[in-house]
Amino acid sequence: MLVSMNAMLNRAYQQHYAVGQFNINNLEWVATVLKTAKQNRSPAILGVSGGTIKHMLGFKTISDIVKNAMDYLDIDVPIALHLDHGQSYESCIDAIKAGFSSVMFDGSHLPFDENLAITQRVVDYAHKRGVSVEAELGTIAGSEDGIVNSHVIYADPQQCLQMVQQTQVDCLAAALGSTHGLYKDKAKLGFKEMEHISHLINIPLVLHGGTGICDEDMLKAISFGTAKINVNTENMYTWCVEVERLFAEKGEHDINDPRKVINQGLKPVADKISERMRLFGSVNRY
Ligand SMILES: [Zn+2]
Repeated sequence: MLVSMNAMLNRAYQQHYAVGQFNINNLEWVATVLKTAKQNRSPAILGVSGGTIKHMLGFKTISDIVKNAMDYLDIDVPIALHLDHGQSYESCIDAIKAGFSSVMFDGSHLPFDENLAITQRVVDYAHKRGVSVEAELGTIAGSEDGIVNSHVIYADPQQCLQMVQQTQVDCLAAALGSTHGLYKDKAKLGFKEMEHISHLINIPLVLHGGTGICDEDMLKAISFGTAKINVNTENMYTWCVEVERLFAEKGEHDINDPRKVINQGLKPVADKISERMRLFGSVNRY
């Protein structure tokens, strides 16, 4: 069922596991995440970035593809369709109107008061329609779909508290050292700060930039109130490496079906997603 993230994340938060957000790139990617979630009896969040909105021809096309794919595959575990790093009030509203069940408003680049005010407006619109909202504070370094930040700025605990109390947002991405894309060095997360913020706000925290964070640190983050972990780069990378291997091994004359190429690339991606679901503790929950 297509649902908001609210109940799914609150349950994960209370039972100390996390739900993975796996970004989608095309039809086959949607099918892969959905099938893997069903096989594992795990909830999952389909993340849609700015680049994917364009690539997959807009919110409505994506929403229709996901809904129809869920019917076709008879998906009976909770799935959220979530706008990742929504850049404006308007883009969040457009996603909701098209049928997305969840949105992130990323106002982390704005002055705090502005971020707070727009997040508030998004929540007001979304909650009336049963749609969940993720907010962001602090700065996640790295680059994702053209959003580039050169360094990490830790989220301010008092701002986190004010954001949550005032807007009633469903979950919060408090930047505490994680990076989008591939890490240059080992990721260093601010666990002390994470614990502090988690105790202040008492709602699920979101960890962005899951690729390159070691298993131990992921589990630690979950124990400190992280109930949503975004994984994107490693899946994209895995697909490319597998397709490269396929072409190198077979020689181009053996390859004549694009559907087979796309799906072969997604086989190890499905394995990775299953691995993540097991690590996050979200399997056999539904
Ligand atoms: Zn992110």
